[in-house]
Amino acid sequence: MPDIIQLLPDAIANQIAAGEVVQRPASAVKELIENAIDAGATSIKLIIKESGKALIQVIDNGQGMSETDARMSLERHATSKIRTADDLFRLRTMGFRGEALASMAAVSQMEMKTRLPQEDLGTFLLVEGSEVKKQEPIACEKGTSISVKNLFYNIPARRNFLKSNGVEMSHITEEFQRLALAHPHIAFSLNQSDELVYDLPSSKLSQRIVNLFGKNYQSQLAPVQEETSLLKITGYIGRPELAKKKRGEQFIFVNNRFIRNNYLGYAITSAYEGLLQEGSFPFYALFVDIDPKHVDVNVHPTKTEIKFDDERAVYGVVWSAVKQALGAHNLSPAIDFAADVNLMGKLNSQPLSREQYYDEQFNNSLQRSNLQNWEKIFEQETNSRLLDRQLTEQKTFLRFESSINKQESPLADETEKNLFQFQQQYIVRATRHGIMFINQQTAHECILFEKYLAQLKGTPGNSQQSLFPQTLTLTAPDFALAMEMEREIYALGFRFEVFGKNALLISGMPAEISGSEKELFEGLIEQFKKNQSELHLPIRENLAQALAKRTAMKSGQKLSPEEMEALVGRLFSCPNPNYSPEGRPTFFIFDSSKIESYFTR
Ligand code: ADP
Ligand code: MG
Repeated sequence: MPDIIQLLPDAIANQIAAGEVVQRPASAVKELIENAIDAGATSIKLIIKESGKALIQVIDNGQGMSETDARMSLERHATSKIRTADDLFRLRTMGFRGEALASMAAVSQMEMKTRLPQEDLGTFLLVEGSEVKKQEPIACEKGTSISVKNLFYNIPARRNFLKSNGVEMSHITEEFQRLALAHPHIAFSLNQSDELVYDLPSSKLSQRIVNLFGKNYQSQLAPVQEETSLLKITGYIGRPELAKKKRGEQFIFVNNRFIRNNYLGYAITSAYEGLLQEGSFPFYALFVDIDPKHVDVNVHPTKTEIKFDDERAVYGVVWSAVKQALGAHNLSPAIDFAADVNLMGKLNSQPLSREQYYDEQFNNSLQRSNLQNWEKIFEQETNSRLLDRQLTEQKTFLRFESSINKQESPLADETEKNLFQFQQQYIVRATRHGIMFINQQTAHECILFEKYLAQLKGTPGNSQQSLFPQTLTLTAPDFALAMEMEREIYALGFRFEVFGKNALLISGMPAEISGSEKELFEGLIEQFKKNQSELHLPIRENLAQALAKRTAMKSGQKLSPEEMEALVGRLFSCPNPNYSPEGRPTFFIFDSSKIESYFTR
């Protein structure tokens, strides 16, 4: 039999590699601008036609390339940035794999003009699908101009895969904004279909933010500045008033690279706690400087997700720094680092390290916020200070044992089952002890929690099969988490299998739940992670809580008398009906003796 294995021709190998580096016009924008930054440019111009489908051009005034280097730069693994594998760990430049230009040249018609400052003439190169069509000396500005034309012209399947002009342009703008924010000292401009969209002079970060997002940001930014032994954080956050209903103005940079990390994003928004309207997202542009040894960067050139080796510590510092910035600007109560003698003196009078202190602050605030929520339930429902005064008494009063264990149920000996719904949030019912307000949402969470916990500990729950199984791609850490809890998630009623890298095919979800299995699954993982940092529950309790939280009915839902009856009945047959798994009270009784005292004075 003849030998059948052949090496791929370079052009095809480059095309394949291109798929990884250049996914869409925005990725070409990123690679080209990063190269210009690495070349020491002080001015970078981006020109876009047809959302990058026709033209992506980046013009810089950086160090330029010699004729030989210009030719070399198009080869795969051609880079001036590292020479040995060791250099990988000392990287200061943006790119280093020497793949970007080769990839773009493989899937577009590329023109390059480049000149070294000391030379009179520069080099012109025309490349199509990796093939150099023309090379000649040319008179041009010092620096480099690269035009990527008709991206994917030779791979129709990929070209067809591009999204609408609007979508592709918004990806480009996003990429442009991130790079412009990370390098405020470099002048940037963006010209889109012959219109100057951004013209950003070299400036300080605050001015760059204003130039990018609008004059009204000027008076709405609070500086963030904090340094610990672990990391340094600087940048700006926006006042709560700047928060938008849509995401898009949240920027975290780690060692000056834009990154995504839900956990940090969550640290920031939770520092805004109570200041933001539900479902709105604050502006922030924060720069974390941290020794790269604490960061696990996925060195894939297009990935922006990273992980820290000690997420909790980083979380604590970021949370506190934001909290402090909000406080210093009178946007929320301030935290005084020096003042809290008790805290600093704890642990055998050993002063807490900065990180420990942040941790403490963080936990305290969580407790406070739980308490506030707890109090809110009462505040909302009554106008009476009378109730306020009695809150402490009520708390002890609230502690009923389960009706299973004790005869003395709050519901016992009722002849009349007078129930009504108040403000579509509470079920109100007369009891032997007084008038009971049941919070329908927390009560339902409590019921579902017990149900799911039972499934996790004993008999797995029923599953309903999906008509159309859905695929769900997760981040690598989320995927690992899902696999770790495979059995538990199965017991809850989900059915899924691994479906490619970090992807799952979800074919079933817990019975009696409606909605999208994909969203539910994602929501479950999200909630699980949130709980991990807030509640410190064991895995099963956490999962049961997370699913209960995701699937419980919300306030605002109208209930029929039968539904109310069922809810109340099920609540009081729970082993612990007093509190939701998060620790919020499920009901409250307005004591009849207090009602009485109201009328006798
Ligand atoms: P990498 O940036 O990973 O080195 P690229 O394929 O992006 O790989 O670029 C290859 C090489 O081409 C770079 O190492 C650099 O020497 C040179 N180069 C690319 N763009 C520019 C530019 N705008 N100015 C000067 N040199 C450049
Ligand atoms: Mg590069």
